[in-house]
Amino acid sequence: MMLIFSHENPVLVTNIKNILESERIDVLIKNEFASGGAGELSAFDTWQEVWLINDKDEAKALMIIKSVTNKENAPDWFCPKCKEANGAAFEVCWNCDEVAN
Ligand SMILES: [Zn+2]
Repeated sequence: MMLIFSHENPVLVTNIKNILESERIDVLIKNEFASGGAGELSAFDTWQEVWLINDKDEAKALMIIKSVTNKENAPDWFCPKCKEANGAAFEVCWNCDEVAN
């Protein structure tokens, strides 16, 4: 088992997990509930982590993560429903769950 991805934004971490699972790569999230007690922890300690169950999936997983995080550099999109700005890597509005068009 190995750590494959970590990010301060739990929505992005969940997004990565879902994409990897859709590619039949077994992963699990650690620190999933750490943010509940964030007061005592540094921001970094509350970062969620995506762990790879099978190390042999590393190359494929990294390729997928790279393609997803590359989208992060693309311009934000604005939710047609609530007008909130969303990172390009996200397919669903963080605010109202509207799906990007
Ligand atoms: Zn929205």
